Amino acid sequence: MSIQWLDEIRAVDLPTVGGKAASLGELTGAGLPVPPGFVVTADTYRRFIDDAEISEPLFATLDVDPTDTDGLARAAAHARELVSETPLPESVREEIITAYRSLADGEELFVAVRSSATAEDLPDASFAGQHETFLNVTEQTLLDRIQDCWASMFAERAVHYRNEQGFDHATVDIAVVVQGMVDADKSGVLFTRHPSSGDREMIVEAAWGLGEAVVSGTVSPDHYVIDPQTATVTASTIADKKQRMVKDPATGETTLEPVPDADRNARVITDAELEQLVELGRRAEDHYGEPQDVEWAIVQGDVFMLQSRPITTITGGETEGRADHNTDEDQADQVERTNKADQTSRPVDELLVRGVSASPGTATGAVRIVRKLDHLDQVTDGDVLVSEMTMPDMVPAMKRAAAIVTDEGGMTSHASIVSREMGVPAVVGTQNATEVLQNGQLVTVDGEMGIVRQGSSDADHTPTEPDPFEAVRPQTPVKPMTATEVKVNLSIPEAAERAAATGADGVGLLRIEHMVISLGKTPEQYIADHGEDAYISELVAGIRAVAEEFYPRPVRARTLDAPTDEFRELEGGADEPHEHNPMLGYRGIRRSLDKPEPFLCELRAFSRLFEMGYDNVELMLPLVNDSEDIERAKAHMETVGIDPTKARWGVMIETPASALLIEELAATEIDFVSFGTNDLTQYTLAVDRNNEHVVDRFDELHPGVLSLIGSTIESCRELGVDTSICGQAASKPAMVQFLVEQGISSISANIDAVRDVQHEVKRVEQKLLLDSVR
Ligand code: PEP
Ligand code: MG
Repeated sequence: MSIQWLDEIRAVDLPTVGGKAASLGELTGAGLPVPPGFVVTADTYRRFIDDAEISEPLFATLDVDPTDTDGLARAAAHARELVSETPLPESVREEIITAYRSLADGEELFVAVRSSATAEDLPDASFAGQHETFLNVTEQTLLDRIQDCWASMFAERAVHYRNEQGFDHATVDIAVVVQGMVDADKSGVLFTRHPSSGDREMIVEAAWGLGEAVVSGTVSPDHYVIDPQTATVTASTIADKKQRMVKDPATGETTLEPVPDADRNARVITDAELEQLVELGRRAEDHYGEPQDVEWAIVQGDVFMLQSRPITTITGGETEGRADHNTDEDQADQVERTNKADQTSRPVDELLVRGVSASPGTATGAVRIVRKLDHLDQVTDGDVLVSEMTMPDMVPAMKRAAAIVTDEGGMTSHASIVSREMGVPAVVGTQNATEVLQNGQLVTVDGEMGIVRQGSSDADHTPTEPDPFEAVRPQTPVKPMTATEVKVNLSIPEAAERAAATGADGVGLLRIEHMVISLGKTPEQYIADHGEDAYISELVAGIRAVAEEFYPRPVRARTLDAPTDEFRELEGGADEPHEHNPMLGYRGIRRSLDKPEPFLCELRAFSRLFEMGYDNVELMLPLVNDSEDIERAKAHMETVGIDPTKARWGVMIETPASALLIEELAATEIDFVSFGTNDLTQYTLAVDRNNEHVVDRFDELHPGVLSLIGSTIESCRELGVDTSICGQAASKPAMVQFLVEQGISSISANIDAVRDVQHEVKRVEQKLLLDSVR
């Protein structure tokens, strides 16, 4: 048997179904309202890796120095590849699909697919957020998502976490819960005791929409403190809930959307619902005999329990010598008292920000502001990690940090849970820490009181090292929020970290020419010497490094476009044709269609990346003239198994023909176009971009060029095709102004220009808004 139904499972089944499923089974058995489902057992995973004979290489791969971040990342990626690329046995496939169909009862049922590791939720380790969960999954993708859950055992953060907690990788197994989706109107978390103080009070955090947003720390939830005896609210904070997570009815995908104005600052749960939650919490705690951390959801007034697990952070049951309640008012008093006391003994330390106490303890350190997916390597030992929100990916950096402070998120976000477990003081949901605090500033974080003060108690103002990232980091504390996306261009994967540090909304152009040229051989020569697979692997590694750094921000990688003169110096370059003007010659899609062998390898690299789960990678074709170019390339994409209706792909607009024929191009079902103004200018004005004699005639703002761009944007807006620019002109304020006014979807600039472009875009957008109301 590969599966087991939830109502057959009890706590004793933990070794085969994992902590999450064992708990769901118990709760189902206790008559609590748990959505029905089944579990793909941990034995199924173990049989899969054993029968496919990948267990040995899998665990051997992970035998690297745990402090070598890069080595660990490579090992983890290889392990994930092993798990997700090995085919699932037919008998297992059949059993899972049969169970799904029985659960769905003839309908198309959306299910949640959740990892349930066998060492999960043990009293001293919550494993919170270490493994994948997928929402709104249907029959078509169910098996892939289950394998993705298995592969998530080897996500970098999960490997790191097991190393830290002293788990042997080879002894932790993973089961997967498949459970009917609860289309929540509101959801959140309930602690049956205060999770950091252990006080006898219930804490409820609640937000609109699906619960993932609360658990992942994407939104700041309402926060209620409840007296369990009377089921009354003793303190509450109603958050400004800007976003909610919902299911897109068309695609079934989970997306974030703005909360309607009327609901943003409204209280999420009614008194009646609170009463039901308190009752459920009580029953869960009674059933287990210890304090619980419960995930819940409400659909049209009905309360469901999605999960319940012991609170792993309370030591010694009852608190010793602590105030019974720690309401907001008490906290304010305490802050005032602390400040007064400070005045008598030493200079007043300014109160900088306040938030929710997520993990107790006090620590002093230098502020290190980290944008959400920046490389967290910047956080060094003893820094105070300050970020917009908490995410499980932050775990390795959190370990080095002296304390954690976030703008968003509640005490129930995964990182809050993990920070408590690691004993790192944390203050979350401050709303503005990333604005108020400055990099390098010495602060003291009081996790107990949920406050951050200026300076240190011992006045030890340790100077901080100059940071190379400061050169590219936006100087305003928060990057300007713009409706037009501002992305970054990239050629060298090694620069991905710096590029990501700009706060760009993704990569608008990843040129692969540098990766290929750095091989020292023409693609044809490289393939002849080392084989197709080696060439594909090089491309996968280069693109993946960027996709990983930016994930989930999109990375638009372009197929090869280098003129023959750039290949000439390389080994194999002697075979390149001699051209009168290489710029007008054998390059881009022309070469790719004429010599499909290397092109097919490039496409296979994309296909492999998609299979590996890099759904943020987009494919872009250079130098197309018409729909025939595109259709021929599309046929090649299909040959290697890329489904053009599923992948996001598009073309460069670099020739006047492509701009003039935009309707015809759009009919090929491209998702986006991107203006390559370097080429579009040279071909519109007949000015060789590499010819110094006509350099003064190379003008991207020429009315002829602008006219082609303007009309293409207008058509694309009507046709629902996204527009972007990735040529050098994107860094020019006049071009930015023109493009934003025309309604371009995104602008992609060089690393050093991103900051200025963000500000310029914001300025133009604000002006447009003002003009519209004047
Ligand atoms: C362009 O043509 O503007 C462009 C971005 O492509 P490349 O510079 O690589 O030709
Ligand atoms: Mg170009």
